[in-house]
Amino acid sequence: MKITVLSGGVGGARFLRGVREHARGIPEAEITAVVNTGDDMWLTSLRIAPDLDSIMYTLAGENDEERGWGRVGETERVSGELRAYGIGWPWFTLGDLDIGTHLARTDLLRSGMPLSAVTDRITSRWDLGVHLIPATDDEVETHVTVEGGELHFQEWWTKHRATVPALGFVQHYVENSTPAPGVLAAIADADVVLIAPSNPVVSIGTILGIPGIRAAVAATSARVVGVSPIIAGAVVRGMADACLTAIGVETSAEAVGLHYGARSAGGILDAWLIDETDAAAVPALEAAGIAARAVPLWMRDPATSAQLAADALAL
Ligand code: GDP
Ligand code: CA
Repeated sequence: MKITVLSGGVGGARFLRGVREHARGIPEAEITAVVNTGDDMWLTSLRIAPDLDSIMYTLAGENDEERGWGRVGETERVSGELRAYGIGWPWFTLGDLDIGTHLARTDLLRSGMPLSAVTDRITSRWDLGVHLIPATDDEVETHVTVEGGELHFQEWWTKHRATVPALGFVQHYVENSTPAPGVLAAIADADVVLIAPSNPVVSIGTILGIPGIRAAVAATSARVVGVSPIIAGAVVRGMADACLTAIGVETSAEAVGLHYGARSAGGILDAWLIDETDAAAVPALEAAGIAARAVPLWMRDPATSAQLAADALAL
């Protein structure tokens, strides 16, 4: 069974861990993750890919569970030195182990490999059980439109903690980007396509904005099942609500489901999993042509994540 998951970073990583766990019981399960790269950037000569790395560290069991991101047992000596030289972004700390990943990635990119090949090479260090493909090999950069100008997504998200009102999002260079090798086939040839409970705007929205990907999701013979990142009118972790507000979508499981839309009506979803507390939204979603079911959506640990993956596949 071929399972393809569209994914952002932290929410997507937790979900993928659950999909992998659940798939242990499915014969010949093959899991492919198509990963957002809109948050990637160059900083102090390093190519940083936050969502790919969040997934890689989580699936490798190398992530810091307490902090919620980055490597476990991390130190920050190199960042301290850069700060002392006044180089880079003082508010954006890179761990020493993490810098090792960025150096490896940058070295391979500089040797001429595309990001997808670099990702294969870097992830081969661990037995992830999931094939990670960046949504595109091209450099697409998410910026945030704010009063009086534009901020790099990381500046808005990490430095300002999304407190500067966002007027919109711009995915620079997206119109000239192409899906990375394997992305369209992973969607077309899948038995099921899952939309992870990731940020609908800057994670899933960016992936779908790459020319050809939305059309591939719309056209696949696989069933497309999404999982809501919104529970009871709030984001579970992070600040995705600020992104939704900026594009005029209410922070609710129902509104995000309707924003993705039914495939039968030009959208991308056949089915949408929402939390038990949002069960009242089922009729409205079904009326819009989206099969909806209410189940527990909190991924507290690998077991609850695996149950969520099972529920998504059952739907
Ligand atoms: P990022 O790239 O690191 O911001 O991560 P993603 O885009 O993959 O995921 C961010 C989203 O994950 C946020 O909107 C959260 O609401 C959602 N999320 C995080 N943990 C959970 C969880 O346990 N359950 C559900 N349903 N959503 C979650
Ligand atoms: Ca991200």
